[in-house]
Amino acid sequence: MLFECPYCKAKCQFSKLVNQCYCQSDNSYQQAWVCSNCNGVIVSRFTREQDIRDAQIFPLVKIKPKIKTDKLPDNIRNDYLESLENYSNGCYTSSVIMSRRVIQQSCIEKGAKKENLFGQIEELKIDDNLKKLAHKLRYWGNKGAHPDILLGEKIEEKDAKVAIDFTEKFLQYVYVIPKEIEEIEGEVEEKIE
Ligand SMILES: [Zn+2]
Repeated sequence: MLFECPYCKAKCQFSKLVNQCYCQSDNSYQQAWVCSNCNGVIVSRFTREQDIRDAQIFPLVKIKPKIKTDKLPDNIRNDYLESLENYSNGCYTSSVIMSRRVIQQSCIEKGAKKENLFGQIEELKIDDNLKKLAHKLRYWGNKGAHPDILLGEKIEEKDAKVAIDFTEKFLQYVYVIPKEIEEIEGEVEEKIE
């Protein structure tokens, strides 16, 4: 049986470990499998009506941070990591809300004063291309038409992924690169002195 392996991150052949178990809590079946490539163990969970290929796989495939999180302020790092965790757990609405919170906290931390996120991004001294991109994304470019909690929006996996991709670009530009430049400057000065 082929599954996406959460450990070695490839589509791998898995062999059954033991007989499947029936779980009475939700009438599901659980089956343990071992990856032929890395020996990692996963569990698939499915109901009688479900095709085994549509089974939920645990551990859920996590997405890892694409930026250096040690360069972020604590509160922003925590919210960013929470958005990734929500995404991995299939909680896409929560993930987008956390991504928005990351952007908004960053704007406030950088001195934005406007009421809504659209205005705050506009106020920020950031790259024009990044601003343009922010306003194109419906979750940030809504001119405050929607309340911050995204009522009335149906959020799917791809929406949450787009939100995370943008958030990473934003954080990279606003925090990571300036921090790295600061560190390089520090090293250069040390050598000169
Ligand atoms: Zn594997």
